[in-house]
Amino acid sequence: MRAKVIGAGLAGSEAALQLAKHKIYVDLYEMRPSKQTGAHKTGNFAEFVCSNSLGSYDITNASGLLKHEMEILGSELLPLIFESQVPAGGALAIDRELFSKKVTNLIESNPYINVIREEVTALDCDSPSIIASGPLTSDTFAQAIKNFLGQDYLYFFDAIAPIIEKDSINFEKAFYLNRYNKGDADYINCPMTKEEYEKFYNILINAPKIELKSFEKGAKFFESCLPIEVLASRGEDTLRFGPLKPVGLIDERTGKENYAVVQLRQDNKSASLYNLVGFQTNLKWGSQKELIQSIPGLENANIVRYGVMHRNTFINSPKCLKPSLQSRKNQNIFFAGQLTGTEGYTESIASGLLAGINMAKYLNGEKLLELPQETMLGALTHYITFEEHNSFQPINSNWGILSPIELDKKIKKNKKLKNELLAKRALEILNNMLK
Ligand SMILES: Cc1cc2nc3c(=O)[nH]c(=O)nc-3n(C[C@H](O)[C@H](O)[C@H](O)COP(=O)(O)OP(=O)(O)OC[C@H]3O[C@@H](n4cnc5c(N)ncnc54)[C@H](O)[C@@H]3O)c2cc1C
Repeated sequence: MRAKVIGAGLAGSEAALQLAKHKIYVDLYEMRPSKQTGAHKTGNFAEFVCSNSLGSYDITNASGLLKHEMEILGSELLPLIFESQVPAGGALAIDRELFSKKVTNLIESNPYINVIREEVTALDCDSPSIIASGPLTSDTFAQAIKNFLGQDYLYFFDAIAPIIEKDSINFEKAFYLNRYNKGDADYINCPMTKEEYEKFYNILINAPKIELKSFEKGAKFFESCLPIEVLASRGEDTLRFGPLKPVGLIDERTGKENYAVVQLRQDNKSASLYNLVGFQTNLKWGSQKELIQSIPGLENANIVRYGVMHRNTFINSPKCLKPSLQSRKNQNIFFAGQLTGTEGYTESIASGLLAGINMAKYLNGEKLLELPQETMLGALTHYITFEEHNSFQPINSNWGILSPIELDKKIKKNKKLKNELLAKRALEILNNMLK
């Protein structure tokens, strides 16, 4: 049995090693070093392109829980991460060069893996393949993926508005209502007085922005998807006539329209997460927090996902993938890594792990593994493959996507304890599933 893995980044390296572990021969394609991405610097596999931290390993942290699940599922890269660890307080950080050399050696010496150092330019649907070419997939191959999936199913930029946990909203100030009272009251509205709006506006126009990378400069954003700071720079009232317009939102408590209103739209099926409408932004994260917490009702907002706008190739997974990461269109094709719409180093390795396990099962004629939403990896894959997203944008691991748990009010307020219980449930379910 033989499979192709395209891209020897974090996801592709993990996927190839999983397949080899299941005695499946792998042709692993990597275009570096002869063709670079703009962010990678070497020809080594599983290169960390920016920070050298994978976040926490503590199970009361969402990314920490994901790592514990990956250990249970038998990740091949995680032990190499621990071998390359450097001191970094509570975070799991690595010597990136050492790590990626270890991965490269492990792969190059594996008798089941044949490394092919070339750019893949076409998609061969007759060969079982895992596509893990990442957020900086080469242009020609991106076009081939687009042709395979259909024109509207491949995106090139993130334009993400921040996402917050509903439980952290103060409903003494915020209220549910749809504009002109149409339909059910789906939106959460945070009303502002003139003074509150002016304070918000001042924070916004003075906030520092994230520097774009050289390969991202010149990116053109759609007018309907402009960063909030760009809209604000057009004049003090632009936002009040745009995403913050108060028209048609009569505040029941006063019987009047407010000066401005920030709207929040439901982001997941269980309604635990809400995104801020029109708030796609390139502001630094500290400034985003200050800005969001200046909005009445969001003073204590727990931000599970900050806004970003950067080059990021990703597919419309809700339309294209099954929760096993197998393509809906052709059973031979699986996707993994950031290309699927999960974000982050840990998440990329985790999806490579799942895609590798499932490709092996597929080739062996076994039932594919679909993880339950009580687990972090199951919740992530469910989030990205859930068909009813209004507008799909990438996400990283966070507590808001897990299936809710019944808890009494006191425990609910104790975040650490609540996360501990959610983590315990996830690990128990996963261990039982794999028995
Ligand atoms: C600039 C930037 C900075 C980031 N910083 C962070 C961060 O600090 N922390 C974090 O958690 N996440 C970060 N991410 C997000 C994400 O975690 C990383 O991009 C991660 O490396 C994604 O893993 P991957 O396996 O999906 O893709 P990659 O690790 O990028 O692997 C894809 C591989 O495919 C190869 N490839 C591409 N096209 C082809 C082709 N046609 N043929 C053959 N090979 C091909 C590439 O050379 C690459 O080796 C960042 C992303 C970017 C773009």
